[in-house]
Amino acid sequence: MHELSITQSMLDLVLKQAEEAGAEKVGKISLVIGEMTGVAARSVRFYFGFLSKGTPAEGAALDFKVIPTTARCLNCHKEFELGEFDWTCPHCQSNNIEITGGKELFVESIEVD
Ligand SMILES: [Zn+2]
Repeated sequence: MHELSITQSMLDLVLKQAEEAGAEKVGKISLVIGEMTGVAARSVRFYFGFLSKGTPAEGAALDFKVIPTTARCLNCHKEFELGEFDWTCPHCQSNNIEITGGKELFVESIEVD
């Protein structure tokens, strides 16, 4: 159900922007999803299909940009991509790390007709 509420808020935002732009139809929606959010693109696509019915966003193309989970080592200060169960720095094996990317979740842009 996670994706259902996310898709609903995304659609609300898109419709509001389309209305403000005086657009009658939304052509394309570009979304940025961080890997860490656990949001599945195919679920968003599925929910979008029925939530957008009868709105100007019906039939709009969805474009997903998935951001990998990245971290910075607080020991050697290098940045790297995090594996799912591997929370250690590949350079110095320290587990003193901070997450720097992968929590993104937003509408990057919309194209209207
Ligand atoms: Zn390190």
